[in-house]
Amino acid sequence: MQPVVFAGADLAYVVRYDGISHQEWNRTDGPVAELRRTVRVHYLRQQGYRCAYCRMEKKENHGLTWDVEHIIPKSVYPRFLYEPLNLAMVCKECNIAKLDQDVLHRRVGPGAVFPSRSEDYKIVHPHFDRYSDHFEMIVVGGRISHRPRNPLKAKETFLMCNLVRFSYAFGEWEDFNYEVVKRFSEFVESCPPDATRQQITSFMQTLRFTVNGDF
Ligand SMILES: [Zn+2]
Repeated sequence: MQPVVFAGADLAYVVRYDGISHQEWNRTDGPVAELRRTVRVHYLRQQGYRCAYCRMEKKENHGLTWDVEHIIPKSVYPRFLYEPLNLAMVCKECNIAKLDQDVLHRRVGPGAVFPSRSEDYKIVHPHFDRYSDHFEMIVVGGRISHRPRNPLKAKETFLMCNLVRFSYAFGEWEDFNYEVVKRFSEFVESCPPDATRQQITSFMQTLRFTVNGDF
């Protein structure tokens, strides 16, 4: 996805930041409130109104659904407060789960540049990683579940953002298989005995169990 580009009043505000006073981010009025709006509008559009971590979709603009996320926590590294590649939109649930947890493999020294490689991060990074490389998103009965594809970034993201909360319906794979078999049985029962090849094909296409989580 494209990082936000600050301009005009937003840019003027960013360049005078001292790199320390990250509490200014939470001010409810003034230039930072406008800047947060710029960030929100930009990334919600880039992300197609999906959370950077769980890819839940919600077509709402207001702050009740969405938080601006500092991927590297602003309390730990205040100097990356306005770094466009450190910003994304996340849902409240992911934000509350992730909090100020450390996402970097190695601490970054005071003079070092912003870590901009996928391998610098423990978690799936919204800017540097492709989501589908790390998660298979399975849909059964209208519910989404995340299946981590690897024991590294995917597992770490799963744990850090508490993605298990989506899986309560079928936490075990036996349950998922059961759901698949059940759906398929229903399909076979509802399929007329004289169905044509085309009819069967169109029936089969309704049996979708995965979605693509990429932006
Ligand atoms: Zn989320």
